[in-house]
Amino acid sequence: MSIECSHCHALHWKAESLTSSTLADIKFGMCCYQGKISLIPLDQPPHDLLKYLTGQDDVSKTFRDQIRTYNYALAMTSVGRNLNYSINQDGRGPYTFVLEGQLNHLAGSLLPAEGVAPVYAQLYIHDSDVALQHRMQNTHNRHLNPMVLSDLHNMLENQHPGVQLYKQAYTLTCDMPPEDQCRIALRFQENTDRRRYQDPLPTVREIAVILPGDRDTPTNCQDIILFRKYDGTHQRIRDSHPFYL
Ligand SMILES: [Zn+2]
Repeated sequence: MSIECSHCHALHWKAESLTSSTLADIKFGMCCYQGKISLIPLDQPPHDLLKYLTGQDDVSKTFRDQIRTYNYALAMTSVGRNLNYSINQDGRGPYTFVLEGQLNHLAGSLLPAEGVAPVYAQLYIHDSDVALQHRMQNTHNRHLNPMVLSDLHNMLENQHPGVQLYKQAYTLTCDMPPEDQCRIALRFQENTDRRRYQDPLPTVREIAVILPGDRDTPTNCQDIILFRKYDGTHQRIRDSHPFYL
């Protein structure tokens, strides 16, 4: 996989080249459609993440080996999917992931059910030390480095607009009586470009937090209704807007 597209510099196998290629001019269609599509380069990661992504010290190297576990530990939603288990039933052969329908984000309530430890976005309404304590108690995370987890939590808290939205929703509902099963709508404002996935400068202002009342039902498929208290269900979110993460 060492042949570079002359337009976007993506690396390919030779067999992926278009049939119109010549030895002197190898063309690829699957990356940038022969230079017809050019995307804005991704932003540089925040400093705290960049140092672990590029560092040559032991902590950074171990971080990169365990990067999927870190990603999972810090995620705000879980993966929603219908799996087909029939393929792996006899336990032979390599594990095969067979998905039926769409892959989507699964969002729970703002607060966990009583007596249950907070997970996913619920961890972001706590301060960093409490969130770290909960994450380290999770058996999947016990081998992770608490210092790295704490750095990344703080980075998300300071820079991720979604974390601010969760905190805002939590603060707005703090004084409500506990028996209220309140719903909060995160509503996309009228002029938001709904087709956009990668926004170079996403802002919280494009989403409004709306409190219960006659306006708490979704007006279109882009809205998210957050439940403050767990009622036994989860919400599936299919849209690809970056804020859905
Ligand atoms: Zn290309």
